[in-house]
Amino acid sequence: MTAETKTAPAKAETPCTCSKYADATTGETTGCTKTTRRDFAPGHDAKLKGFLIRAGAAGHLVALAGAPDEPVQASEAASRFGFARHVASGISRAQAKQEQATADADTVRAKVGRWERTGHVEGDTFTYTDRSGAARTTTKFTLL
Ligand SMILES: [Zn+2]
Repeated sequence: MTAETKTAPAKAETPCTCSKYADATTGETTGCTKTTRRDFAPGHDAKLKGFLIRAGAAGHLVALAGAPDEPVQASEAASRFGFARHVASGISRAQAKQEQATADADTVRAKVGRWERTGHVEGDTFTYTDRSGAARTTTKFTLL
């Protein structure tokens, strides 16, 4: 046995895995500058998870540092990690929230005939739910 094989050399510190990803649209990264002997600096798996959810929810692709020309879906980037399912569900939750916020923002009150209704305007059409719960559309309305 030679001196070299007697003791395994300490594994060199490498950049934290969370620093290796960038939002392909904004170029944003986690801003991490840590090095570690493991894959992640302590707590940085959560940091990367949050980063991938934000990018995915924004509809942005994510690129691995060193392969900026091959961006992938954030959920795909997460697929090699244990938290892949959390990223996928985090993205769908964030997207559902955004859709709800958009829907809420579009809600308007309008007068249809003599009734005030709440609904959505698209072009010159007002879509609302009448008193019986039926969806109606009309082009004869006055925004309130
Ligand atoms: Zn990190």
